Amino acid sequence: MTLNFKQELTAVFGFPVAENPTQVMVEAAYRHHGLDWRYLTIEVPPRDLADAVAGARAMGFGGFNLTIPHKVSVMPLLDRIGESAEVIGAVNCVVAREGELVGENTDGRGFLESLRAVRDPAGLRVVLLGAGGAARAVAVELALAGAESITVVNRTAQRGEELAGHLRDKLGAKAAFQQWSDRIAVPSGTDLLVNATSIGLFPDVEACAPLDFDSLDRDVVVADVIPNPPLTPLLRKAGERGCRTIDGLGMLINQGRIGIRYWTGLDPDPAVMRAALEKVFNSTAAG
Ligand code: NDP
Repeated sequence: MTLNFKQELTAVFGFPVAENPTQVMVEAAYRHHGLDWRYLTIEVPPRDLADAVAGARAMGFGGFNLTIPHKVSVMPLLDRIGESAEVIGAVNCVVAREGELVGENTDGRGFLESLRAVRDPAGLRVVLLGAGGAARAVAVELALAGAESITVVNRTAQRGEELAGHLRDKLGAKAAFQQWSDRIAVPSGTDLLVNATSIGLFPDVEACAPLDFDSLDRDVVVADVIPNPPLTPLLRKAGERGCRTIDGLGMLINQGRIGIRYWTGLDPDPAVMRAALEKVFNSTAAG
């Protein structure tokens, strides 16, 4: 038998990054599937990003994730950018492919995988709350998957208008902006309502997107990008009205799965990843 003490390396680069729990779910999957791979949580200040990418290249990393503040600044350092990452304008996952570093965006794809388990995105009339990075990734993937229309609802008009315009100009999508003021009603005919704002994220766990819940029809699928806690007030209220719901923990796990698939070629078990993350989130909530 040939001995091999060389681990395959993957990582997340961020600043700050110490509280990012991705390592826990990715390494749980590596262990479960008997892969001698590592996933390191590495703090990289913005001025050192180019050196970090060159280092990963030199050390033959299988790939790495990027989190705040590197998702946009990494793009010129890579050899190629995937289609949706190009349109989103951000890369959160780099994959080493045949000697090249390729930039992908798995946030929106993770969301789509969760959605597809419940409904086909093609033809859906979508109301999207938020216009930041997560909203942009979700909106682009929904448009690429053939959503019928996307209404972007945002507190800051300029950001919301920009995202709706981007979807129209880059993808020819039917997209419009609606100002978020007070408790907005969910228009009748809506198929999918997505919260892609940070409302409800730990520790502000009682915060709920200000909506007129009486206008929420039970046929609407309601999704939230907030991974911690997974059962947000929005999803709880939507569930009480009989709506099917999709949580942000599933989205987070799916984007991690897609990264592992890209890097290793293996489709990891999501249940193992979810259990590992839930353990961390439960201990965080308790602490
Ligand atoms: P950004 O800062 O880029 O955007 C935040 C968005 O939330 C903006 O649209 C902002 O509106 C809106 N917002 C924040 N607070 C309020 C409020 N009180 N009322 C109304 N709107 C508000 O953040 P990201 O898009 O990067 O991240 C958003 C969330 O998505 C985070 O909580 C993150 O945890 C989650 N996320 C989840 C992922 C997953 O895999 N589950 C992946 C990526 C992100 P405005 O423009 O007016 O400021």
